Amino acid sequence: MVTINVQPDVWMENGTENLYRLLNGLEGCSVGIENNSLNIEISDQEKFLRNFANRIKQKQYEIIFVKLLDKKTHQPIKRLKPYVLQQFYLKQEDPLFKEEKRIKTIKAILDSIKTGNKDRYCVICGNKFGKPVRKNLTQGVYPFVTKIKSLSGVRILKENYDNLCPLCYLIGTLEWLDEGIIYRCFLGSGERTYSVIFLPFEFDLKKLHESKREYIEILKPNRNSQISNLLKIKENNIGYEGELQQF
Ligand SMILES: [Zn+2]
Repeated sequence: MVTINVQPDVWMENGTENLYRLLNGLEGCSVGIENNSLNIEISDQEKFLRNFANRIKQKQYEIIFVKLLDKKTHQPIKRLKPYVLQQFYLKQEDPLFKEEKRIKTIKAILDSIKTGNKDRYCVICGNKFGKPVRKNLTQGVYPFVTKIKSLSGVRILKENYDNLCPLCYLIGTLEWLDEGIIYRCFLGSGERTYSVIFLPFEFDLKKLHESKREYIEILKPNRNSQISNLLKIKENNIGYEGELQQF
């Protein structure tokens, strides 16, 4: 059994809650949520790997991409939502989001958790771990790490920031698949392009899950929007106009 203790960090706690929803009801494993931890029991590794990989793939297209119609060709196209800090179709594409590498990566994470020789400390959770699966602490794993000095500049410091444990890598990366992220993207030209995201914070994982379960329903109708899942967007001659729907 794998037990993940909640970290008092908004990204990682929401990531743990999101992992629970990703795994809940999946054939090959059973998951249980406690006030401060998530327990995962894998009963059939092969089934688990296949089903988990499929769930990631499905969520990938539902949550972080939007389906649009090309204005010229009228053909369906998909676009990455602007707030998502992940690279696609490039060399840096994360293996968890890559069709041919997904299962292999999840398996490597499981193997690393089982490894006996744990001689490193994770830079995020502080737990000991063995072999890293993905080394660099990128914004794709934890969006608060930037190269900008005024915003911590973590990624330009000389200290060793490549001690990332496989569980934090998994939780942090998959948090992008959370339909509970409230987003509003401003699609101006050049420097005017920016995004704002909102995430709930609660010290109790169960309470967090309950409240997210409720409001995710409200966000669902606008899920396929590049601009916001909270606003009803109308396109007009001068750009976009938003109507606050809830909250
Ligand atoms: Zn960690």
